[in-house]
Amino acid sequence: ATIYPDRSNSAGPNLDISAQAEPFFAQLQEYQHCQWQAHPIIDGESVSGATQTVCSPRNRDEIVGQVQWATTADCEHALMVAHQAFPNWRNTSVELRAKLLETLADQLQAHQVELIALCTREAGKQLHDGIDEVREAIDFCRYYAVEARKLFRPGAPLPGPTGELNELFVQGRGVFVCISPWNFPLAIFLGQISAALVTGNTVIAKPAEQTSLIAHRTVELMLEVGFPADVIQLLPGSGKTLGTALTQDNRVTGVCFTGSTQTAQLINRSLAARDGAIATLIAETGGQNCMLVDSTSLPEQVVKDVVQSAFASAGQRCSALRVLYLQAEIADKVIALLAGAMQELNVGDTWYHHTDIGPVIDTAAQQQLLQHIADMQSRGRLIAQSPMPEETNTGSYVPATAVEIESINWLSKEQFGPVLHVIRYKKSDLNDVIAQINATGFGLTLGIHSRNTQLALTIADQVNVGNVYINRNQIGAMVGTQPFGGQGLSGTGPKAGGPRYLPRFITEKTRSNNI
Ligand code: NAP
Repeated sequence: ATIYPDRSNSAGPNLDISAQAEPFFAQLQEYQHCQWQAHPIIDGESVSGATQTVCSPRNRDEIVGQVQWATTADCEHALMVAHQAFPNWRNTSVELRAKLLETLADQLQAHQVELIALCTREAGKQLHDGIDEVREAIDFCRYYAVEARKLFRPGAPLPGPTGELNELFVQGRGVFVCISPWNFPLAIFLGQISAALVTGNTVIAKPAEQTSLIAHRTVELMLEVGFPADVIQLLPGSGKTLGTALTQDNRVTGVCFTGSTQTAQLINRSLAARDGAIATLIAETGGQNCMLVDSTSLPEQVVKDVVQSAFASAGQRCSALRVLYLQAEIADKVIALLAGAMQELNVGDTWYHHTDIGPVIDTAAQQQLLQHIADMQSRGRLIAQSPMPEETNTGSYVPATAVEIESINWLSKEQFGPVLHVIRYKKSDLNDVIAQINATGFGLTLGIHSRNTQLALTIADQVNVGNVYINRNQIGAMVGTQPFGGQGLSGTGPKAGGPRYLPRFITEKTRSNNI
């Protein structure tokens, strides 16, 4: 039997080491004024459409490129190509598909600085977030390549009557529609696609409108390394229009979606209303993520982990901390330290390494978050807000904000930005707190800070979430180490970057042969 080489997660440049930082920044400058183009790609061909200029959330005057939008006629064309390409792609060897993913990982590595620049300029990401984004995309490619080889490895014949050969095979399901969000415009976009392709499905990818340039550059790189043109179609454009057209079509056998719970529910209904085959839906959605801090925990460590969990990436991570529960005995101390730490946060342009908090994705998100902060301030108590330098007027920036509130019931939905809600609780009310968290119906991440190991493990067991983090921050799940995904309103599972993700993309066939 072949022994496949093990895989390790990629490292990415370390900007704290000058030997790595200097060449990185020198190369990064080449992309400071670069313009990118995006358009639909169907069967390897560029398709033209209505054009829109893309501006950076860092600075509304900074043009990053132009995108041409796909139409519903393009959906029809893409469906036809993907549907026809499926039998051939299903029958290619898993080794070839896995090798293509590994070559793509090398290609991403070779183009990492450009991709980081794109993440920073189009999505407003901090540089280190861009680095992590490329690393994660590479890790998904390599991890799913290894996992696919295991999944497709022929099994021994199954036991049966003498003279009969019983075998079980796995194969792709058909056409997968991959719909992704803007907050991980490369890693999630490619994580979905790579899983679907390596398991023998053909793909129609619909990236978030805000990050079409990154998606387009990624598909260009895929075609460069040799993915057949007919197995991956790219349709930049409106989720409402294209998403609806795609999910209603009977040729679609699966949808892999990451985004808001509300959109996942719309897709679920659209798939259920079809009269064709029952499609698979993999949905990874939002959260109302909490952290519980008891009186045995170390306040300084708590504050460091809270700041990272709530404010890193301007709070635009699905895993980000939204509600901090502090046991009454420790609450004043943690709140005072937190307020101090928040005064030190640098909100500003993500092109610079020293920035702690960049912009949110667009003006609509900024306005919605500022309105929410105003609402919470009028009902609750403002704990702290990070300073906002003048330069932030040019983009869609929101100050890191912590506000004390009475109940998690004040929050009717996920607030996708740098806003932390703090609630005090009495030790005797811990069971009620757990019940309230579970009652939200969300179940993505949970942080626990406690030096009482037994209590921490009990809480971890009782709160219905997909990922629990004890005595650390609750973001930055690593491929293969912290398989990621939620339950309830937070997603269907299986977990991305985990050993049971790929099986959801395949179907099985049993062959009984009376030889
Ligand atoms: P979103 O508004 O739900 O959009 C996600 C994608 O769905 C976009 O490509 C969007 O297209 C598309 N879409 C919109 N309406 C659609 C429809 N009717 N049918 C099909 N597709 C449709 O979410 P977002 O604002 O981009 O992303 C933020 C959300 O994602 C947050 O809730 C966050 O928690 C969640 N998230 C979850 C995870 C996880 O792993 N659990 C990871 C990252 C993010 P348009 O761009 O045209 O709107």
